[in-house]
Amino acid sequence: MSRIEPRDAIVAMSNYHSPQVDVPVRLNTNESPFAPPAAWVESLAAIAASIDWNRYPDRAAAELRDEIAGRHGLDRSQVFVGNGSNEVLQMILLAFGGAGRTVAMFEPTYQMYAQIARVTGAAVVTGERRHDFTLDPAEIERVMSRDTPAVTFLCNPNNPTGVVEPRSNLEVLLERAPGLVVVDEAYAEFSDWTAAPMVRDDLPLVVTRTFSKTLSLAGLRVGYVLGPRRVIEALEIAALPYHLDSFKQAATLAALGHTDEMTARVTQIKEQRARISEELAALGCEVWPSGANFVLFRPSSGDAASVWQGLLDRGVLVRDCSGWPRLAGCLRVTVGTESENSAFLLAMGELSA
Ligand SMILES: *Cc1c(COP(=O)(O)O)cnc(C)c1O
Repeated sequence: MSRIEPRDAIVAMSNYHSPQVDVPVRLNTNESPFAPPAAWVESLAAIAASIDWNRYPDRAAAELRDEIAGRHGLDRSQVFVGNGSNEVLQMILLAFGGAGRTVAMFEPTYQMYAQIARVTGAAVVTGERRHDFTLDPAEIERVMSRDTPAVTFLCNPNNPTGVVEPRSNLEVLLERAPGLVVVDEAYAEFSDWTAAPMVRDDLPLVVTRTFSKTLSLAGLRVGYVLGPRRVIEALEIAALPYHLDSFKQAATLAALGHTDEMTARVTQIKEQRARISEELAALGCEVWPSGANFVLFRPSSGDAASVWQGLLDRGVLVRDCSGWPRLAGCLRVTVGTESENSAFLLAMGELSA
């Protein structure tokens, strides 16, 4: 009996996923530690009851896109919404990546760029970062002229390093990139600058955002991209019809009525981020400055795997990045609630003693 194998690109790839272990303190996937506002949760039953379930959703998601566009001073035709920003990245790569094209990124960065690019059949090229994990303008120029990528990713603030890129590096990239530049701003609310106001029809720049982090809605799966009209039109062609269900459109619209409450928590997270960074440094860890809701650090022992296990034994789950390229010995901790962070820091203190 013959057995058909998946395409080589699929076989070659090990899955990107963080182990979901059931522990008291989960600080491994950069979610918000806070539940969404109770008033929003209570409104969901009425929203569900109001939907014409026998009808297809509004394919254009017009109301939702109008609302998001308005918040950024843009037009509906400059916004595409997806089931999480990962789906948005996939649509960008289906439309602009694919076989015969090259996709560029600077390592270490978010692993899904390379993974999704390869799934679409594109070739992946990587550039290096400096030791402090910022970009080197000369390296940007080198990669752009050597590989002429159709799509280049810039994650800002960068996951998993937390580093915020100087604006001048995006300007260099936009000047040199022969194709589309994607700035992934999954953590924009924790940072001190955003590229969103730069989006316009005559610049090959798109900016992606998610509801999964600041907005406490990782379970809802919503993300979006702001970009030139002609880019958004291409994403609409790549997406499946009715990809956003009616409930999600209405529930997301309702959530946008509570954004003040949700973004108010950003201050708290930033304070806790400073606390974690300071205390880890005091324990002798190497710590990278973060503009996101997580902190990358290298324990002083250099043995990340045993620190990861030691934390797990104490009921704290963090992300082990030590096997990732250029991150030997590194762990990444998501900023949690004050008491979760205390549990993490207490455990780190025990492990460093
Ligand atoms: C968490 C994250 C995303 C978000 O994904 P969703 O699919 O919106 O949950 C995208 N990009 C980066 C860099 C992230 O860390």
